Amino acid sequence: MSNSSQENLGTGIINKVFGLYYTVNDGQKDIACFLKGKIRINKEFKKFTNPVAVGDNVKFQYNDDGSGSIIDLLPRSNLFSRRDKGRNAREDVIAANLDVVLVIQSFLDPPVNPRFVDRLAVRAIKENIEPVLCMNKADLATEEMTNTVIEYYKNSGLKIIITSALNMQGIDSLKKMLTGKRTLLAGYSGVGKSSLINSIYQDLNLAVSDISDKTGKGRHTTTNVIMYKQKDGTELIDSPGVREFGLVDIEPEELGNFFYEFTQYRSDCTFSNCTHEHEPGCGVKDRVESGIVCRERYVSYLNMLESLLEYREQKYR
Ligand code: GDP
Ligand code: ZN
Repeated sequence: MSNSSQENLGTGIINKVFGLYYTVNDGQKDIACFLKGKIRINKEFKKFTNPVAVGDNVKFQYNDDGSGSIIDLLPRSNLFSRRDKGRNAREDVIAANLDVVLVIQSFLDPPVNPRFVDRLAVRAIKENIEPVLCMNKADLATEEMTNTVIEYYKNSGLKIIITSALNMQGIDSLKKMLTGKRTLLAGYSGVGKSSLINSIYQDLNLAVSDISDKTGKGRHTTTNVIMYKQKDGTELIDSPGVREFGLVDIEPEELGNFFYEFTQYRSDCTFSNCTHEHEPGCGVKDRVESGIVCRERYVSYLNMLESLLEYREQKYR
């Protein structure tokens, strides 16, 4: 019957994206969905490999065969995406409407990579998502290793949770922080992401390696994303796509806004558009000299600033 009306329409949340296949939960069940042509060709979506992401609220049409067709995207509060420098200007959307980005690192095997943490934190803060750093494998860390990380992020506003999936240190704090929120898990292979999450949610069995990029840097594997929902409402989003990415869509002049400790001292800079690099009379550089801002973290900022300036130069050449 061509009763083509409202009752065939529903709204739901995307909880899985595998290449061009989407799963939408309508509050009762999961529905396999496709994108309807209209949404695929919409101009503003052109720069994205996928126009919609896990966590997006969408409007869709129930089809007779049990599948669904996504016809519209409802407003987002934020969007976490990644874009490689080398590639064309297209952007991979990873997840939307997030509360937290949990950056998972380990003290050893593999060692912590603060530049990676800083890039993710900048990305998250720019999108109004809270970044939290989880330092795992605390059982392997010397006191010096722990102090180095704490010193690096002093006054940075970044919340740090120290854990060991091996001896359960910090697992309760981690669980408490995650409860009731929607969190994107970010960390490259080997840091203990699966071990940690499985020790909190025993029934979850995080299937990280199933969708990891073991087969190489497949374009589609990096856009595979799953959201796991717990009974208490906690939502965890996992994707291999957050392992590496560049920051490209940030203007060099605004980068300092995403380093919380810098924003506190910027009113002391002589120039209102100070990039805290070469300018005289810089409130941030003063704090680096006096040890209030960690020098290594400042160097990480300079590094990011340089790559953003380089990117802009190439773009307008
Ligand atoms: P993933 O790739 O991030 O999901 O990492 P896995 O959970 O698969 O863990 C990678 C390796 O690190 C495994 O051999 C784990 O047993 C080990 N591992 C995970 N967490 C810890 C930890 O807290 N301490 C130690 N010593 N090893 C850990
Ligand atoms: Zn300055």
